Amino acid sequence: MRVELINTGSELLLGSVLNTHHHWLAQQLTHLGYTLAHQQTVPDTGEAIQAAAAEAIARAELVIITGGLGPTGDDLTRQRIAELLDLPLEEHAETRDRITAHFKNRNRPLHKTILVQAQVPAGATVLRNDHGTAPGLALPTPRGWLILLPGPPRELRPMFTQAVAPLLAEKLPPENPITTRTLKTIGIGETTVEQRITPALTEWIAAGLEIGYCARAGEVDVRLTASGEGAAECIAQAEAIVREKLGPQIYGVEDEQLEEILIRKLTASGQTLAVAESCTGGLLAHRLTNVPGASAVFLAGHCMYSNAAKQNTLGVQPETLAEHGAVSEAVARQMAEGARAKHSADYALATTGIAGPDGGTPEKPLGTVFIACATPEGTEVASACFATDRETFKQMVVQQAMNHLRLKICK
Ligand code: ATP
Ligand code: MG
Repeated sequence: MRVELINTGSELLLGSVLNTHHHWLAQQLTHLGYTLAHQQTVPDTGEAIQAAAAEAIARAELVIITGGLGPTGDDLTRQRIAELLDLPLEEHAETRDRITAHFKNRNRPLHKTILVQAQVPAGATVLRNDHGTAPGLALPTPRGWLILLPGPPRELRPMFTQAVAPLLAEKLPPENPITTRTLKTIGIGETTVEQRITPALTEWIAAGLEIGYCARAGEVDVRLTASGEGAAECIAQAEAIVREKLGPQIYGVEDEQLEEILIRKLTASGQTLAVAESCTGGLLAHRLTNVPGASAVFLAGHCMYSNAAKQNTLGVQPETLAEHGAVSEAVARQMAEGARAKHSADYALATTGIAGPDGGTPEKPLGTVFIACATPEGTEVASACFATDRETFKQMVVQQAMNHLRLKICK
């Protein structure tokens, strides 16, 4: 089965918006057992959209087009696709009523042009939009199906998961479903990961197992893929082997984030966390509070940049600062212990380091960082050196800090 994706949007070609639909949809399709054969980005002109759609429909069973379903003059997808398939546009009453209610509930005036979004090509299956006004559309084509999805990611993603995935499973089931499993590792390079796991997997590789590595700053995802009969068994066996070889360096599976794992674990055990950040500037607190339900366990986050703030708020000793400097094991320890005591938290994490580009010394080169983890059993401080740009540095420190706590509480 040939699958093609067309992303519409002049802003994508001008470089002002990153095409995240390509990335996200390709990933979702892969998980469902479909592989994209072709992707293209076209400007918001009727001719470009129509020409790309005509070519794709002629050669592919599944074609997905994103964007251009809105009410403005540059939203031409619905109209041009109806023309291409020679289908009249008809008003879809349910969509019209939903859009009318949407504006009424928000006390906003309903301009006539808004209702063009309720005009759908005859015979289309309407995919309800729970996060916006323009519905998605599924249209039969001579070879298979054409799916039109709205441009805004917060509308497209739930629509794909809730409406498109079940529709595809029913109308266009994948020919050779694949089974995948992603294991997320931290603190180990990709070559080492490969060397540790592949010798033990030779039998399964011979049987069709594919292993992919995706390296990010300080992390490597190991993706196991198999297809055909016995795929599930092959993946289960391979996962067990990889887990045995990498042990606690595997922190999660699929899209799991460290912060989700921490909040889940702390919630289950009824324990609490506070953080004190210097070099990460609040990123650790931000990541933790991105998790719904974090308020049950996350008590406070301090962003303490100056020595005075570290002393006054966290109780870091002036002598310690004078003797060891702000970027030191001793200060990291006092920051974590100060935050833990101040909020009566079970755990506290603290970060202090040299993000650069200036500030490095021979004893403490650029990228030096101390990460402290205060627990009911005592405080441990780890040091590392991440010589990179400021933003990557912050992300790597935050990952390491969360991993530090994970190793303490997820045994
Ligand atoms: P609207 O009703 O908002 O006009 P639409 O279906 O007409 O929705 P577009 O106008 O093409 O969609 O895009 C709306 C917004 O969605 C864009 O400004 C852009 O921010 C975002 N967007 C569109 N396509 C993509 C994409 N491929 N990747 C990331 N964001 C996108
Ligand atoms: Mg638009």
